[in-house]
Parts: sequence; C-alpha cells; structure tokens
Amino acid sequence: MKWRIGEVEVTKVVELETTGGSRFILPQATREAILPIGWLIPHFADEGRLKMSIHALVIETPDRRILVDTCLGNDKQGRRVPTWNERQGRFLEDLAAAGFPPETIDTVLCTHLHVDHVGWNTRLVAGRWVPTFPNARYLFGRVEYEHWTKQSEREDMVTVFADSVRPILEAGLAELVEWDHQICPEVRLTPSTGHTPGHASVLINLNGEKAMITGDFSHHPCQFARPEWSSTADVDPSEAEATRRRLLGEVAGEPVLVIGTHFSGPTAGHVVADGDSCRLLVD
Ligand SMILES: [Zn+2]
Repeated sequence: MKWRIGEVEVTKVVELETTGGSRFILPQATREAILPIGWLIPHFADEGRLKMSIHALVIETPDRRILVDTCLGNDKQGRRVPTWNERQGRFLEDLAAAGFPPETIDTVLCTHLHVDHVGWNTRLVAGRWVPTFPNARYLFGRVEYEHWTKQSEREDMVTVFADSVRPILEAGLAELVEWDHQICPEVRLTPSTGHTPGHASVLINLNGEKAMITGDFSHHPCQFARPEWSSTADVDPSEAEATRRRLLGEVAGEPVLVIGTHFSGPTAGHVVADGDSCRLLVD
C-alpha cells in the first residue's frame, strides 16, 4: 500500500495484523462501546472487535529513504506478549519485495522506543544482535532515549533496550535528535508526548501537500472519536489525551493525510470534526 504526497511516496510494509485481542491496549474499547462508532466498520473494526496492524512505513523523498518504526523483529525473547517472542516472520523479505532491501535504507526513525517500534533495528547473526540496516543512521529521540536508559524496574523494557537499541549505539549508527528535528527538507518530527516522554510524530510537507504519521499518540482510529480513551501503554494518560486533542484539532478539516502507525486496512485518511470529537475519513 502506497500514498503519494507530491514527490514523496510512503509505502506500508506489514509485519502483523490482528482482529480482537487488543483490549489489553485499549480496555475501554469494549464491544458495546465500539459498535456505536459506526464508521470504524469495516476497515478498523468488525462487529465490535478492533482491527490493528503492526507495520513499518518507508518514506521516499527524491534523495532519501527513511524507514519509520521497525516493528517487532525475529528471534526476540522476553516479550510480554507471547506471540511476539521467537518470531520467524517474513518482514525483511516483504520489505525487499516492496523495493527496499535493507542496505538501501539510509535512515531509520523510531517514533519512540517501545517494543513494537524498534524490533527490526537489529537481527540475530551467529548469536549476536547486529544492525539490520547497515548503511542507515538510526534516529532516536534524545528525551526518549534518556528516559529509557533510566528505567530499570520493567524487565521487559530493559530486554528490549538491550537487544534492539543498545547494539545500534555500540555500532556507532545512532543519532540522538530533538523531537522537532528536521530530517530533510520534506520531513520533520513534531513532539506528541504522553504515550512516552519523548514521543514524536512525523510531518511530511511538500509545497503545501501534507501528511502526518501518527506514531502511538493514537493506537487506533477509535481514539479520534473517543480521545479520552488512553492506552494501557501510555506513560502519562492525561498528557496523551491532551496531545490527541491538540493534534486532532490541528488536522481536523485540513488537507493533511493522516497515516496511522497501527491503523489496519486503508491505514490513512483525512480527519474531520464530528460533533465534539473527530472521525477518520478514508479517501
Ligand atoms: Zn506501538
């Protein structure tokens, strides 16, 4: 699946799609609560169960090839979600088949450093975690990085950091950037904190043609209708809600293609106001 924003092309490469089983992320999204939000069906929910996706997005500008968020990865251990352990998926093959062999990626960007956004940063070779994208600079948010280096009580987070983040620093490929960092003329970060302390979303702007990649300030389009629904993974739920309301207010009714990091099916659309909340209109 591809979108074009002027001369920039964005391609989705899926690692995993699920229907249901997402209540651990969004506990308020019960069947009874989802069904009244009719526009979610069929793209983003079936009859009361949420559809979700873990995918990477490749941004191609005339001279850059940027991979945004690197999903779960293969062979990882110590993950809290059982099916995220010891994966043997075809993500790298699918990425290459879409036209992006790993050595052609020049930039890897992690919107934040959670388990499902850093996994393919590394792969297991002869018992060692090595960078999957050897010719890329890996951009990590400075605030985000500093936050996670201080966390020691969550064993699963420590494990993720050890197998998917630290090897990139040790290989000298990491660059710590501010949350409003300009990556190239067409692409920059914008802070969208709350989900994590250094979380950033991605803005693409080319002669007034615009797109935004959400990251996890919103896990699912149901949060456009119910911005007060925070995810269990939000480090600061009230800040996350404030961020959702602010960013939705900025894009509602505007010609900005909003591309969701975990949105299933069509994945992208335009945000319109719907009473005192919003909906995602699929083009
Ligand atoms: Zn996520």
